Amino acid sequence: MKSVVSNKILIIEDNEQNLYLETYLLENSGYQVIAARDGPEAIQLAERVNADIILLDIQLPGMDGFAVLKAIKKIPRIADVPVIAVTSHAMTGDRERILAAGCVDYIEKPIDPEIFVAQIEKYLPTRTDHE
Ligand code: MN
Repeated sequence: MKSVVSNKILIIEDNEQNLYLETYLLENSGYQVIAARDGPEAIQLAERVNADIILLDIQLPGMDGFAVLKAIKKIPRIADVPVIAVTSHAMTGDRERILAAGCVDYIEKPIDPEIFVAQIEKYLPTRTDHE
């Protein structure tokens, strides 16, 4: 018997409005969303939840996104989970810095609701078992 498994997405985001919109769009497309609002919570959850992809805000209070990414990449079991930076205030060189740090991609805020899910689905494994 084949089962349909919804992909799990860990969102690390301290802004409630952004978190709400991202969660809404992803859940509407059938994904399971787990939210973390700061770095320490994100690292704890990342170790536990087996996310298929991680969305990472770079501007976080206290521990910034680069520090969170570094910590995640040190945990062997989750080091290969794709991390996409979702962040605003991109300055020249930010994109390169984010990719060099180990993110697979970079989505600029404000996010575009028309393409947001598709931007993430590029990095997700197929959602169902095929017969
Ligand atoms: Mn933020």
